[in-house]
Amino acid sequence: MRLGIISALAEEQLGLVEAMRGPATLIHGMREYFVGQLWEIDAVCVLSRIGKVAAAMTATTLVEKFGVTHILFTGVAGAGDRTVQVGDIVVAEALVQHDMDASPLFPRFEVPLTGLSHFQPDSGLSLRLSRAAHDFLERDFLEAIGETERQAFRLAQPRVHRGLVASGDQFVNDRMQLDSLNGALPGLVAVEMEGAAVAQVCYELGVPCAVLRTISDNANEDAALDFMRFVKSVAAQYAFYVTRRLCRDLAQAPLPPLQPSRDSAGT
Ligand code: SAH
Repeated sequence: MRLGIISALAEEQLGLVEAMRGPATLIHGMREYFVGQLWEIDAVCVLSRIGKVAAAMTATTLVEKFGVTHILFTGVAGAGDRTVQVGDIVVAEALVQHDMDASPLFPRFEVPLTGLSHFQPDSGLSLRLSRAAHDFLERDFLEAIGETERQAFRLAQPRVHRGLVASGDQFVNDRMQLDSLNGALPGLVAVEMEGAAVAQVCYELGVPCAVLRTISDNANEDAALDFMRFVKSVAAQYAFYVTRRLCRDLAQAPLPPLQPSRDSAGT
């Protein structure tokens, strides 16, 4: 396997790149790709930057130019539901583009000409990812996040949620907008700006993917407060520790081989 790891923010990527063995860097399409070994896994790390187009472009390049066989997205997100708290982890079970609306030509949220509104990440990879996230919270959390940060962000007993992640080209920081998204999208657990774009690209190219999000804010009027401090001192650690657990697990017990993709089978 060759794992492409996409981060949306530089702070989240830093630790992963530092942990890479013998990385070669390659610049393509205004992005820097780091190719090397990450905890015994062949990996390519890249910063997508923010938004759906940026993420789609990065995912496509990872597959087409760097030959990755699987994609992991790590980033932060706003809580999509009141039961989800800052410091919790979300592993996507499905992803939707919440600003996609070609109605009345197509139902709201449906990506025209795909017949789909919800894109599913790979269930095997997502299961391994949520196990890594659980193990991180149970075993590494106290070591990874210092007491000052745990108190500052009131991180008492963070949890892992599986559910629907909604992506759009918008930083959601308005309680009314969040409530309306939550009403229109049952099972919503997180809002962010890239995941569903990566999931669509991976679906179309037949590449398994998984999406990990640390909840950084409540997607309300306070969302931007301390955002960067949280990313640096909390989310970056989450991404590092969970990815390390996942890579070690994948090195020990590889995923079953991929079925031939639609393209290679059909053409
Ligand atoms: N202040 C940052 C910008 C962050 S944009 C800067 O200056 O660089 C928000 C990033 O975090 C995106 O990658 C998005 O996926 C995620 N995110 C976190 N909270 C979000 C929210 N409430 N709404 C939308 N995206 C959010």
